[in-house]
Amino acid sequence: MARPKNLRRIDTHPLIKGYTPIDFKKNKQHSLVIINLEEYEAIRLCDYESMSQEEASLVMGISRPTFTRIYAHARKKVAKAFTEGKGIVFEGGRVFLDSDWYYCKECEASFNNYLHIASPICTLCGSSNIDSCTE
Ligand SMILES: [Zn+2]
Repeated sequence: MARPKNLRRIDTHPLIKGYTPIDFKKNKQHSLVIINLEEYEAIRLCDYESMSQEEASLVMGISRPTFTRIYAHARKKVAKAFTEGKGIVFEGGRVFLDSDWYYCKECEASFNNYLHIASPICTLCGSSNIDSCTE
């Protein structure tokens, strides 16, 4: 199925928005490390699901070198947060959920609801006459 270029596939979103250290002081935005969703997914696949980097790159639909770079960035950010006592926020990233595809019955376009709108409309013609592609 065609999809916009440079988007990385993820299976799930983080269950939470992030973490703060136990003694975290409020209103200190500079004390946060931002981990984007493709970095989150890289850590989840390799360290939680115990996949090899080769397997994880296939799951995310990206090359092995690209995966290795994303994963290295993610690990570096986690290490920075742990070592420097910073909070972690999960946000951003060029990703789409593999389970969130729709088909427009009006213009026959396929599109991904990457903004996770509750009642999505066709991104091409604006029609709400759509079907979910999720089985
Ligand atoms: Zn349409």
